[in-house]
Amino acid sequence: MTVLIIGCVLGGAAFAFYWYTTPQIVLEGDKTMEVTMKDGYREPGATASFSFHDISDHIQIDSRVNDDKVGTYKVIYTVEYLEKTATAERTVNVIDKEPPELALLGGESISFRPGEKFEDPGVTAIDDSDGDISSKVAAKGFVDTTCKGSYERVYDISDSYGNAASAVRTVTVEGEPVRKVKGVIYLTFDDGPSAKVTDKVLDTLEKHKVPATFFVIDYGTDQEKIKLMKRAIKDGCTIGIHGYSHDYSKIYASVPDFMENVTKLHDKLKADLDYDARIMRFPGGSSNTVSEDYCKGIMTNLVKEVQIEGYKYSDWNVDSTDASGNNIPVNKLINSVKDNCDPEKFNVILMHDSDAKETTAKALPKIIEWAKKEGYEFKAMTMDSPAVHHKVNN
Ligand code: ZN
Repeated sequence: MTVLIIGCVLGGAAFAFYWYTTPQIVLEGDKTMEVTMKDGYREPGATASFSFHDISDHIQIDSRVNDDKVGTYKVIYTVEYLEKTATAERTVNVIDKEPPELALLGGESISFRPGEKFEDPGVTAIDDSDGDISSKVAAKGFVDTTCKGSYERVYDISDSYGNAASAVRTVTVEGEPVRKVKGVIYLTFDDGPSAKVTDKVLDTLEKHKVPATFFVIDYGTDQEKIKLMKRAIKDGCTIGIHGYSHDYSKIYASVPDFMENVTKLHDKLKADLDYDARIMRFPGGSSNTVSEDYCKGIMTNLVKEVQIEGYKYSDWNVDSTDASGNNIPVNKLINSVKDNCDPEKFNVILMHDSDAKETTAKALPKIIEWAKKEGYEFKAMTMDSPAVHHKVNN
């Protein structure tokens, strides 16, 4: 006990002596500070004393803080008094919390006439730490200038410190078309490929040197079906997405469910055919009302969403009526096409090449022969083709 008391007394005396003969610096504020580039660093200061005298005005502050640049900096405080020196140090972390500033060149809403080529006026992105990063902005959203309507372009950017900014531009396609596409027929086949029907369709197309577009569904691991699609591409046809599944209750359950159904087939086609399918057709068309049973309002969202994700959708304006049942008489199919095609417009003909549509394959040669005689030109749908958009009903 005695030893402890003596120890304490001596220790206390030594501390008092040190305090009395050495200048002391006390920092105002925290020893480690975090400041944003935007707020900047403001020196909180320090106080100094010597033998209980205030010698704060003797403090020299050496600040190495550059608050225009992210980093860790030191501020050194030195006080010299009666040939005795003391120093203290503060650490300042300058961080960036500001997102880049995105500016839409040309404004938040722009418009094009149908048939005009879409050109994005671009954006600028200026960041306080990274400078001009305009070239790194990711833009997405397909603007279908072949079709009147309202489209969205979405721009995203992040600076090197993960501060993100995004902006949306509305693009309206309106007014008189720059040129009318006339007398063109786009033959489109949904729900294939089918070993039973698609090969017959391809034989006919090859014989008449006419291309078409196939909006396909999942084909499992069927090598025959993969071969059919490869042949179609080789023959100048195009492949579009109908959907991995055609089950309305699954695909129209929600927007994410639908998009997964599209992406899954897109990625499968990419893997099997090395083909980037970007045109698509909604099962039931964009005007379907069946989706309402599974998700109210989903079509209104989907027509926007598929375009934002870079897909172009097309419905049809000539119905062969082969979806109204199986084994629809060949003549009924031919007449329906003849009656509804119009040489003064472009014609997107709805047909099917699933197993049950054998009469469609049988009607096709007659349809092509008739159309050629009438002077129609045949084309496969691409991202630049005119598209048909039905009125959305859900
Ligand atoms: Zn279908």
